[in-house]
Amino acid sequence: MAARAGGRREIRCPADGSLVAEIDEAGPEDTDLAIAAAHRAFHEGPWPRTPARQRGDLLLRVADLLVRDKAQLAREESLDTGKRLVESEYDIEDVVGVFRHYGHVAAEHAGRVVDTGNPGVVSRIVREPVGVCGLITPWNYPLLQASWKVAPCLAAGNTFVLKPSELTPHTAIHLVRLLLEAGLPAGVANLVVGSGPHAGAPLSEDPRVDLVSFTGGLATGKAVMAAASGTVKRVALELGGKNPNVVFADADRAAALDLALAAVFLHSGQVCSAGARLVIEESIHDEFVDAVVERAGRIRLGGPFDDKAQTGPLTSAQHRDKVERYVAAGIAEGAVLRCGGVRPDDPALADGFYYPPTVLDRCSSAMSVTQDESFGPVLTVETFTDEDEAVAIANDSIYGLAGAVWTQDAGKAQRVAARLRMGTVWINDYHPYVPQAEWGGYKQSGIGRELGRAGLDEYQETKHIWHNIDPAAQGWFA
Ligand code: NAD
Repeated sequence: MAARAGGRREIRCPADGSLVAEIDEAGPEDTDLAIAAAHRAFHEGPWPRTPARQRGDLLLRVADLLVRDKAQLAREESLDTGKRLVESEYDIEDVVGVFRHYGHVAAEHAGRVVDTGNPGVVSRIVREPVGVCGLITPWNYPLLQASWKVAPCLAAGNTFVLKPSELTPHTAIHLVRLLLEAGLPAGVANLVVGSGPHAGAPLSEDPRVDLVSFTGGLATGKAVMAAASGTVKRVALELGGKNPNVVFADADRAAALDLALAAVFLHSGQVCSAGARLVIEESIHDEFVDAVVERAGRIRLGGPFDDKAQTGPLTSAQHRDKVERYVAAGIAEGAVLRCGGVRPDDPALADGFYYPPTVLDRCSSAMSVTQDESFGPVLTVETFTDEDEAVAIANDSIYGLAGAVWTQDAGKAQRVAARLRMGTVWINDYHPYVPQAEWGGYKQSGIGRELGRAGLDEYQETKHIWHNIDPAAQGWFA
C-alpha cells in the first residue's frame, strides 16, 4: 500500500547516477501499521500453527520462484547497488540456496524428550516461534542479507516486518511479492521502505515486536540494542568487521596472492568479511606486496552491464567521501600509499561513485586504518616475524567477524585458527560460506548467529512442558 508518511525517495544507480525509480518513503506511522499487521497475523493467523513441514514446503516453493525470476532479480540488485550483473546472479543463487536449506530443515528441530527418572512424567522441550520479528538489513548484499533472516524466521513460524536499506529496496519488494505468490498468509510478511531513523527505529522500540535482527554498522547496531532494551526484546546483531588475512611464508603463494586480492577488492570492499588487513610474514613482504600492488593496479572498474569490468562503484557519494577520509588519515599516520588513493580520471566513470583498489603499506595495529572499517577497496599491510606475533596482530581489533590463515603446515594452520577470536576462519581460502554453517561475529562484530542450525534457533523460543501422567497428592503441607 502507499506510504502514509507521504514522502518520496529517488533510487539512483551508483554506477552512473541514473534514476532507477522513485518510490514511496515509509515513516513511523507506516511501521506502526506493519507491526500491527504482523502482530495480528501472529496471534490470530494460521502461520505459527501451520505444521513445520508445510512451512518448509512454502520456502521450497519460494526457492523455485526465485529461480524463475533470477534474471530480473539480478538486474534489480545491480541497478540498486551498482554491482556487476554476474555478481548479482551469484547472489541470487545463494539466496535460492538459503531458502532451500531452511525449507528442508524447518521440521527438523522439533525439540526433545528429557529423562526425569520418573516414568509417570513426560518432560518435553519444544521449540516455538518467538513472535513478531523486526528485520533490518543493509545495502551491500540486499537480498542475500534479507534471506538470511526471512527464511529462518518463516521456517520457525514467526511473522515479520522487514526494513531493507533505503538505498536498495527493489529486491526486498520483489521477495515479498514472491512470498505471497507462494501462498504465505496475509499479514505474515510486511515491508517498510524508508530511512533507518524513521521507518526502522520503531522496530527496536515497539513492545509488540519480540525480536529485532539487525545487519549493518556498529554505531547503528549499538543504537538498536539500546532501544531494544526498553522492552527487553531479543536482539541479534550482525555488525562490521576488520578482518585479517594472515599469510605465512610457506603458503601456496599463487593461491594466497589471488585470494588476497579477492578477499579485499570483491564488490569494491563493501563486504562485512572483507580481508582488509593483510598480515604477512616479513620475509616475503616485498615480493608478495609488490605482486598485490601490480595486480590491484590492473583491476578494471565499471558498471553492472560492462562485461570487462571486474568490480563496481561504491554505493554513494557520501560513502566514497568516507573512504577517501579514511585513506588520508592512514597516510597522515605514516602508511605508505602503494597504489590507488585517487578517484579514477576515466570520463566514462565520472558519473558513478568509483574509487580504485588502494594498498596502504607499512601499517601497524596502532593506526586508525587497521582498526576502523573502511568498507571500501582499501588493503592495509602489516608484517610479523613469528606465529605468536601473527596471532596477536590478527586479534588486535574490536571486531571478530572473520579471518584467514595461509600456510601449508596443517599443524600451524590449526593452531592459529584455534587462537583467532573470530566467527569464521578460513584456512587457505577466503570468502566461501554455505547456508549449513553458522555465520556471525565475536566481540563487537555482533551477537548471535545467522545460517546453520543456530540461525534457526535465533527465531525460536524454548519451552519446557512437564506432564505428570499419574498425579498424586504429595502431602508437602500435610
Ligand atoms: P547501517 O548501519 O547504516 O544501516 C543498516 C540498516 O539499518 C539500514 O536498513 C538502515 O536504514 C537501518 N538503520 C539506520 N539507522 C537505524 C536506526 N536508528 N534504527 C533502526 N534501523 C536503522 O549500515 P549500512 O551502511 O547499510 O551497511 C554497512 C554495514 O553493514 C557495515 O558496517 C558492514 O560491515 C555491515 N554488514 C555486516 C554483515 C554481517 O554479516 N556481519 C553483513 C553485511 C553488512
